[in-house]
Amino acid sequence: MRCPKCDSVMEPITFHSIVVDRCTNCEGIWFPDAEHKELKKMRGSQVIDTGSPEVGKKYDRIEQINCPVCGKTMEHVPDTYKPHIHFEHCLKGHGTFFDAGEFKDYKGEKLSDFFRDLSMYFHRGSK
Ligand SMILES: [Zn+2]
Repeated sequence: MRCPKCDSVMEPITFHSIVVDRCTNCEGIWFPDAEHKELKKMRGSQVIDTGSPEVGKKYDRIEQINCPVCGKTMEHVPDTYKPHIHFEHCLKGHGTFFDAGEFKDYKGEKLSDFFRDLSMYFHRGSK
C-alpha cells in the first residue's frame, strides 16, 4: 500500500496481535479498521507512533487526500475528545490515517508514562 499523503511505501507493523501500516517516509499511520480505538486502550501502544510531530504537523496541512484502498476523497475530521487532532477518515469505511505524532497525542499519556511503558515493552520483548 502507498501512503495517501506522500505516496511512499507503507509497511505493516504489529503491536501485540494488532497490525497497522506505517509510512516509511512521513511515518503517518493507517488503521484499516478501528484499530486506533483498540490500541488507545492498550498500555504502551504509543510506541507504534515513531514519527516526529513536526513532520506530522507539516503533513497535517495536506487535507485533500484519497483513500489508498478505494481512491475516494477522505473526510478530514477532528477527534471527538481532542478536537485539535485532525485525522483523515474514509467515508466508505476503509480506514483512518493519522499523521506522525497524532496517535501519541490521541492516546494522550504523559511523556513519563511513555518512557515507563517503553522500557516495560522492551523488557518483555527480550524474554
Ligand atoms: Zn507518508
